[in-house]
Amino acid sequence: MSAGGRNAVVLGAGMAGLLAARVLADAYDHVLVVDRDELGDVAGPRRAAPQGHHIHGLLARGHEIIERLFPGLTAELTADDVPVGDFGTSLGWYFGGRMLQRTRTGLTCISPSRPMLEQRLRRRVRALPPVSFAEATDIKGLLTADGGRRVTGVRIQARAAGAAEREVAAALVVDATGKGSRTPAWLAGLGLPKVPEERVKIDLTYTTCDFRGPLDPDPIGDGVAEVCVATPSSPRGATLARLADRYSLSLYGILGDRPPADLPGFLEFAATLAVPAIHAAVRGAEPITTPVSFHYPASVRRRYETLAAPPAGLLVLGDAACSFNPIYAQGMTVAALGAEVLGRHTGPGREPWPKAFFRDLAKVNDAPWALAAGGDLGFPGAEGRRTLATRLANAYVPRLRTAAAGDSALTEAFLRTAGLVDPPQAIMRPGVLRKVFFGGRSGGSPDTAAGAAA
Ligand SMILES: Cc1cc2nc3c(=O)[nH]c(=O)nc-3n(C[C@H](O)[C@H](O)[C@H](O)COP(=O)(O)OP(=O)(O)OC[C@H]3O[C@@H](n4cnc5c(N)ncnc54)[C@H](O)[C@@H]3O)c2cc1C
Repeated sequence: MSAGGRNAVVLGAGMAGLLAARVLADAYDHVLVVDRDELGDVAGPRRAAPQGHHIHGLLARGHEIIERLFPGLTAELTADDVPVGDFGTSLGWYFGGRMLQRTRTGLTCISPSRPMLEQRLRRRVRALPPVSFAEATDIKGLLTADGGRRVTGVRIQARAAGAAEREVAAALVVDATGKGSRTPAWLAGLGLPKVPEERVKIDLTYTTCDFRGPLDPDPIGDGVAEVCVATPSSPRGATLARLADRYSLSLYGILGDRPPADLPGFLEFAATLAVPAIHAAVRGAEPITTPVSFHYPASVRRRYETLAAPPAGLLVLGDAACSFNPIYAQGMTVAALGAEVLGRHTGPGREPWPKAFFRDLAKVNDAPWALAAGGDLGFPGAEGRRTLATRLANAYVPRLRTAAAGDSALTEAFLRTAGLVDPPQAIMRPGVLRKVFFGGRSGGSPDTAAGAAA
């Protein structure tokens, strides 16, 4: 990276890092993306991003933003056999075993694997003239000036044997290193106050196995996925998805309930789901991977916006700022929303003001956090702060979903909010409330569920 011109460094080449690099390429002369993994053109799960083994649904809002940042991506993926459909008709959504009424929503659902999506974004980001990558490189720490009030670059070190640590000067450093971000520790090292954190402990385990198609019986057909969302009355969940070249089944259990990572145990767990069609589809299918597990103890929201004086020249994005229980499928979309915020705060010759950036980032994180953390707190064993709003939402949303089983307008309202297209207030509009309380189908008790999406 040249010493001349304005430099930006992005720490981490996951979804948030790639989206940040895309946006910063419009504003900086040079953008260096640093990642500890050997990235190459890999289309499979990476060592430092092990969540890539598991199904990653891209919510409608995330799809809209990513397609705008990378025009033609949907067509490119579709041409490579990635299934595409409508969120309301191509997915079966089940809560407590009850399916939402299928209805067209106009919201596009596209189903690449997470590593494939990352590969396609990485190819496009690599092709941007200002962007270069430092792969297989560890981030060692920040460079600072003015007694720690300004970040002026980073220290990095290639993982190759004998490589020396080197300093990279930058006008802006964006931390997109994911949930394990070191920024809170770095700021503490600069003598800044502790970054306040909110946590909701859910003790979740995902286990995923891929299968060769065709499935027999096949509950998906030419659709995209069958989604069984955990609810307090039925707390095991799963997504069975059709990908470009295979089927993938992610099972999950919460509060210490762990889907086994041996095939017989995996299938036994699948047999206990509230949606029997999922087990029926895979029990005779040929597995093409060994089941692999990922443990996710808690959602974590780091409240950078509350710091009185965050250092200039350092911003935080993606899971590094806010990591959500993955069952709601929000992480990549929130990374995209954060990249949009980054775009609004940067521009040629413009220096972002961290305080204002973090305030705006907090605004876009509010709704997904309310849906995911709030939803988790509907499970009596989940640990976190239950506000009145959380309790009211957890009483209302299950009723909405029950009514949506017989009402396409309610299904659409729910999916637009869960897809982060509409704000949570949209499901509280008078027309929706009226249908939920007075016009919905009778019979069947609410699922008393927590989940919003899957
Ligand atoms: C099991 C599971 C399922 C999920 N399902 C979904 C889903 O359905 N939909 C969805 O939208 N989201 C899902 N997510 C969340 C999603 O993976 C993330 O929210 C999203 O990818 C954004 O992550 P990120 O880029 O911020 O961090 P990451 O993807 O974790 O990327 C961080 C990058 O930083 C690099 N890095 C970290 N530390 C260092 C260091 N010290 N030096 C050098 N490099 C470093 C890593 O190599 C990595 O490439 C899921 C997560 C999990 C765990």
